[in-house]
Amino acid sequence: MMNEREAGMAAQLLALSRVLAGSQTVQARRAGERVEAILRDLLYEHDPWSDVLSGGKPSVASAATPTQRPPHPLPPPILTEENRGHWDAAKRHEFRLQRCQGCGMVRFPIAYSCPQCLSPEHEWALLSGRGRVSSWVVFHKAYWPSMSEQVPYIVAQIELEEGPRYTSNIVGLNGRDMRMDMQVEAVFDDVTGTLTLPKFRPTAG
Ligand SMILES: [Zn+2]
Repeated sequence: MMNEREAGMAAQLLALSRVLAGSQTVQARRAGERVEAILRDLLYEHDPWSDVLSGGKPSVASAATPTQRPPHPLPPPILTEENRGHWDAAKRHEFRLQRCQGCGMVRFPIAYSCPQCLSPEHEWALLSGRGRVSSWVVFHKAYWPSMSEQVPYIVAQIELEEGPRYTSNIVGLNGRDMRMDMQVEAVFDDVTGTLTLPKFRPTAG
């Protein structure tokens, strides 16, 4: 049984293997793909979100309002001790990111220490969930089989009111209607009973 420290190390190795897998050299790419496959098996065997990989058990919310779930499971985010505060909050439909207790900076990506003052002390601050679209792309091709029923879908960078830029989907909008600086707010997609993904929609009014 993998403990949390080992799971954290495996997650870091997985990230490295993806760098290798994206390499121009064939041998490095194959090695990266092989390492990634092994680590995926190891990680997801003990992953609290393993129900996502096995196709997903419907959550109470999604059972009440049945939604079309793809036949192929999606790869879930990798849960670590470092990022748990964000994902646990999302399950409660709260948008929280790290706020440095040294200098007050709200940061993303999630990191062990503050990029501004290097302090590791932080709290999981409740954010407004509001921001503006600073970049986006509309995917018309399904690069993952389970996305085939969702194309076209929008991936956007949202500049949050508190400063950081967060990457997510924009929902409830046709790609043609996307505009730079559009005001958006967080909504929460209960993918399974254990995994909720923060997404964004245009702010009402
Ligand atoms: Zn700081």
